[in-house]
Amino acid sequence: MTKFNTRFAPSPNGYLHLGHAFSALISEKIAYKSSGKFFLRIEDIDIGRCNKEFEKNIYEDLSWLGINYQKDVRRQSDYFKNYEVYIKKLRDLDLIYPCWATRSEISKSNDTVLRLKTPNSGEVVVNDLIRGDIVFENSELDDLILLRSDGTPTYHLCNVIDDYEQEVTTVIRGEDHISNTPRQIHIQQALGYPPLEYAHLPMVLGQDKKRLSKRHAATSLDEYQSEGYLDVSIINTLARLGWSGGKNEVFNLEELIRDFDIKEVQKAGAIFDLSKLDWINSQHLSQLDEAAFKAELMPFIDNLNLDYSDYDQLDDLIEAMRSVKSNLSLIAEALIPYLDSFKEYDEKGVNKFLVGSEVTLTHVILMLESLDDWNEAIIDEHLAKLQEELELPTPKMNQPIRIALTGSKFGPGIYEING
Ligand code: GLU
Repeated sequence: MTKFNTRFAPSPNGYLHLGHAFSALISEKIAYKSSGKFFLRIEDIDIGRCNKEFEKNIYEDLSWLGINYQKDVRRQSDYFKNYEVYIKKLRDLDLIYPCWATRSEISKSNDTVLRLKTPNSGEVVVNDLIRGDIVFENSELDDLILLRSDGTPTYHLCNVIDDYEQEVTTVIRGEDHISNTPRQIHIQQALGYPPLEYAHLPMVLGQDKKRLSKRHAATSLDEYQSEGYLDVSIINTLARLGWSGGKNEVFNLEELIRDFDIKEVQKAGAIFDLSKLDWINSQHLSQLDEAAFKAELMPFIDNLNLDYSDYDQLDDLIEAMRSVKSNLSLIAEALIPYLDSFKEYDEKGVNKFLVGSEVTLTHVILMLESLDDWNEAIIDEHLAKLQEELELPTPKMNQPIRIALTGSKFGPGIYEING
C-alpha cells in the first residue's frame, strides 16, 4: 500500500475553526491508515500577521482532539536562511526576474520583488483525489511573486519548499486553496521537485450554504470545548461533513480510521448543522458509563461555583439528569435548581404549565401537608389519586410541580427532586 505523508499547515493568525479541524483530522487519518507520517507546520512566514497566542492555541486544540503529529514541528520563521538558498538557486537557473511591485513604488524607491517566470502557454493539471484532474491554462496564471520588496519570501515559495523538505506526498487542504495549487506546481517544477497529490476538501458551510461564520454557530474549536462537546463528538461530526461512507452515524475513532476513504468525500460544500452536533454529542454522552460521565461533567459543575458539599445525592442527580440537554455546560446549568436556589423561572415553561395551574398546586400542597410520612411510594399513591380526582393528564400534574420546584421544564422524575 502506498504510504501517504500528509501535513496540517495553519497560519497562526486566528483561532482554529471547524474547517481547519476538518482538514487536520482527515490529513492525520489518511497518513496513519497508510502507515505514513503526519506533520504539523506553522506557517508564520508573514510574521506581522501571526502571533504566539494563536500558535499556542493550535497545539492545544490539536491535543484536545487527540490529533497526533510528528515530534519535529516545523515553524517557517525558523527557516528564513533556508529559503534564501532556494531563491539563489532559482536566480542561478534564471527562472526568476525582478519586477517593480507597483507604480507608486517605482517612484518611491528602487525596491523590487522577484517573480517566477511562468510559461504563457500550455496547461497545469492538478491531480486531485476528490475532484479528479483539474486543468488550468497557464495563460490565466500570473508570474508569482516569490520574494517581497522587503526581502522576505512569500507564503507560496515557503509552502512548496517545506512540503518537499518534509517529504510530504499528499496535500490535503480546503477548497479555498485550489487556485493556489497550479501556481505552486510551477514553483515545484522550477525547483525540480516531484509532483504531489492533492485533495481539496469541501468548505464548511452554514445551513444557508454560505461559508460558516459566527452568524451560524460558534466557529472556533475552543468554544465547542468550553460548551461541553466531547472531542469524539466533534471528530464524529467533522468526519461526517462531506463524507457519507461508513455504516453508522455515530462512530468512534477506531471505526472512523477503519471506514474512512478520502475518495468518498463529496465535492460540494459541506453543511454544518449544530443540531446534528447536538444529537451526536448526546449519543456519545449516553455511551459513557456513570463514572466517565461524572468525570466529564464535574469541571462544568465546578465552573458554576456551586456549593454542593452538603448535597448527598449528587451521583443520583447526575444520573437522573444526564440526558436532559445535549452538552455538558447546559447539563451542569440544569443542575443549578437542585444544588442552589434557582435564579429564574423558564418563562416558556411558566406560561405553558404554571399559569392556570394554581388550583392544582394548591391541592398538591394541601395533600403533601396532610401526609405524616413522606416517601416515594406514599407521595406517588396520593399524587395519582389527586390526579384522578382532578381528572388531569399527567403533564398537567407533573410539569407545574416540576417548574414550581426547579424553575425548569427539564428534570428528573418528579420524586428525585429534592429540595
Ligand atoms: N497556511 C495556509 C492556511 O492557513 C494553509 C496552506 C496549506 O495547507 O497549504 O490557510
